[in-house]
Amino acid sequence: MSFTTLGLSSALLDVLSKKNYTKPYPIQEAAIPAILKGDDVLGIASTGSGKTASFVLPLLQQLQHKRVEKNRHVTVLVVVPTRELAVQVREVFNEFANGISAPIKTMAVFGGVSINPQMIGLQGVNVLVATPGRLLELVESKAVHLSDITTLVLDEADKMLNLGFKDEMNRIFALLPKKRQNLLFSATLSDDLNSITTLLLHNPKVIKIVAKENTLSLINQVAYFVEEEKKGPLLRYLIKSQDLQQVLVFTSSSYKADAVVDKLSKHGIDAEAIHGKKSQWVRTEVLRQFKQGKVRVVVCTDLLARGIDIEFLPCVINYELPRSPKDYIHRIGRTGRAESPGDAISLIAPDDEHHFKIIQKKMRRQVERIETENLKFSGY
Ligand code: AMP
Repeated sequence: MSFTTLGLSSALLDVLSKKNYTKPYPIQEAAIPAILKGDDVLGIASTGSGKTASFVLPLLQQLQHKRVEKNRHVTVLVVVPTRELAVQVREVFNEFANGISAPIKTMAVFGGVSINPQMIGLQGVNVLVATPGRLLELVESKAVHLSDITTLVLDEADKMLNLGFKDEMNRIFALLPKKRQNLLFSATLSDDLNSITTLLLHNPKVIKIVAKENTLSLINQVAYFVEEEKKGPLLRYLIKSQDLQQVLVFTSSSYKADAVVDKLSKHGIDAEAIHGKKSQWVRTEVLRQFKQGKVRVVVCTDLLARGIDIEFLPCVINYELPRSPKDYIHRIGRTGRAESPGDAISLIAPDDEHHFKIIQKKMRRQVERIETENLKFSGY
């Protein structure tokens, strides 16, 4: 299968070939024609499967023929859970939009930064990528109107429809026109959300990409069994002895992330933290530098577990396990993306063992177990 058979314009095909996208990934093969046709889509595809391009390409194609009739009335709305994901999705829209002649303006809006530049910037925007809270603030201040939306995209849909965002999302749904195209994408979708998606979607094309297994098999998972208080030295030992140059480390709290960064820095390992208590400027800048390989270790909370794409990231370390097995899959999915392999290492203290068994059972995979008694890492 080649991109040429999917119904995309020659301008978009040119951008694809410049980007060296030689063939569509399975989610793209299924979603692009359906979206072009105007269908609702429920796409369940693992992280790193290329789902962003699967909605960006057909939506840009549709937008080529649509004009913004009224200023500040956006046409496409993409709702995402985090600021980082908003920026990433905007970049994919911009990369492809640059290659086509129709001027399509995409903007990302999110909280944690001043609202004024966003209010001003919303002039003439066609595609708005937004986190829910800031979107509602902008609607309230009449900086943007959602009454002309033709397509709604929920990226990381299960998160967006879950309790944490429920009230905000209900308020957003109430502002949208009833007749619209709905596209829901998620790597995981829990059963209890089935009823919500049924309400939201009209006769959707359901695309389930079973490549999950393949993607997981690109990730070499190992677990080191270690006393809680020895996790720090073990982490430093692993980074130094394996000469890991680009590592994403997950902790369960901002406080812990800062503490791990502090220790790593004191031991001469270049590290920065990304979590909800950092300013947006710091979060954006650290992630940018990390993606460019300028920061060796980023220690983060589950804020970065979902959707974030770091090209060829070789290694993810779970310093602490996430509470939910789903988040474990999202976390390790930061590596092993776009068909390149990666390592996922988990540090398991005695108190974590039971929970780790549950994670493995849910994932239907046994993780290689490494005992640490004989490893010489006490001086690290
Ligand atoms: P996503 O799942 O949307 O975060 O995409 C994961 C990665 O796959 C991104 O780095 C994309 O640039 C890359 N990608 C998406 N589609 C293709 C394709 N058809 N060929 C090659 N790379 C792709």
